[in-house]
Amino acid sequence: MTHSSWDAIQRADSAVIWHPYAPATGGADAFPVISADGVRLKLADGKELIDGMASWWCAIHGYNHPVLNRAVQSQLQNMSHVMFGGLTHEPAVQLAQLLVDLTPPALERVFFSDSGSVSVEVAMKMAIQYWYSIGKPRKQQFLALRNGYHGDTFGAMSLCDPVTGMHHLFGAALSQQRFAPAPACAFEANCEDRDIEEMQQLLAHHSEELAAVIVEPVVQGAGGMRFYSPQYLVRLRALCDEYDVLLIFDEIATGFGRTGKLFALEHAAVVPDILCVGKALTGGYMTLAATLCNARISSGITDSEAGAFMHGPTFMANPLACATALASIQLLLSQPWQRTVERLNDELTAGLAPARDLPNVADVRTLGAIGVIELREAVDLREVQPMFVERGVWVRPFGKLVYAMPPYVMGTADVATLTAAMVDVVAQL
Ligand SMILES: *Cc1c(COP(=O)(O)O)cnc(C)c1O
Repeated sequence: MTHSSWDAIQRADSAVIWHPYAPATGGADAFPVISADGVRLKLADGKELIDGMASWWCAIHGYNHPVLNRAVQSQLQNMSHVMFGGLTHEPAVQLAQLLVDLTPPALERVFFSDSGSVSVEVAMKMAIQYWYSIGKPRKQQFLALRNGYHGDTFGAMSLCDPVTGMHHLFGAALSQQRFAPAPACAFEANCEDRDIEEMQQLLAHHSEELAAVIVEPVVQGAGGMRFYSPQYLVRLRALCDEYDVLLIFDEIATGFGRTGKLFALEHAAVVPDILCVGKALTGGYMTLAATLCNARISSGITDSEAGAFMHGPTFMANPLACATALASIQLLLSQPWQRTVERLNDELTAGLAPARDLPNVADVRTLGAIGVIELREAVDLREVQPMFVERGVWVRPFGKLVYAMPPYVMGTADVATLTAAMVDVVAQL
């Protein structure tokens, strides 16, 4: 296959494409990629970049993996897609069974959807429809954490941090939710009464209107890369039970090993009523997400007058995506992945440590295969992005955060190159 030139791709891009969180002409700054293999992205000029982002945290096994390629090719021989209304298929059934087996026993039913945001919308609709079904139709509001991120569709966006989520841009079109402070207790710390006091107050005052509390367990991702005490989740579960409010965990970023446990909820051994997974679910091959729930929700809705849960995406349980997800999870489980994530943690911790001494750095932290340098000021992407590319790495900072979430297959030497480039770039700012 021949490739157009770098300039031609960029020109054509900026004429017609809109990139994420970018002005319409943002494509002029985008780097054309022609292929990806292992942990490396190959650009149109032949330059290779070590990928520290795993394509927004999804590509846990790296790119062009023979096992995942085979799963796609083999499913392609049978069917790439069929509708899920009235039809079913083995890839979906097997994947759902595996997700139910890997998550806490109470989570026993799986609703597939096409992206993380939609799986959050589905979780919200499940919660609202559950309360409606059991005669409490007033419980329609949600309580989320500041610094949270749950997706960009309207329902999911209403749950994101109101400031970084730019809620002011969307005015009355956005549902008004309630927000508790981001947990202040560090990952290793205890969670004291004061750490959850405002959450408790909000639950006490608004439980009549609250359908659910939603949080990203242990790691707040795109809202600030913050890590907090698993004990917070233990207390939150108890409060939700006390005030009869459902608990939703959004594990779209944390699922499938990223924090050192298969799911972050395992740090606390807390079981939510509803769980969202996505991102790394297919190993970054294609888009798929799932919302799991317990029997209270599924029977509550099913045994009601409406009977059915009212949601059904066109590409629900896409067979190609389900088959790839199944292969990706089995591939993960077939390896000593905990040791791999521990090694990555050691290497990220050691590699990023020199950044602690830099005057423009506020904090350096790692958890599992996540390494974060928090700066004192927000970075200018147009300045910083080419600096990483020059150093042969792909790192895409946001706000004050220069972070890495590498594919788990990244070797020691590549992690060293990646972290050295991060420290070097931050030192040059
Ligand atoms: C990425 C993300 C989402 C949204 O997923 P999309 O697939 O981008 O819609 C939701 N919640 C969390 C925690 C995420 O990291």
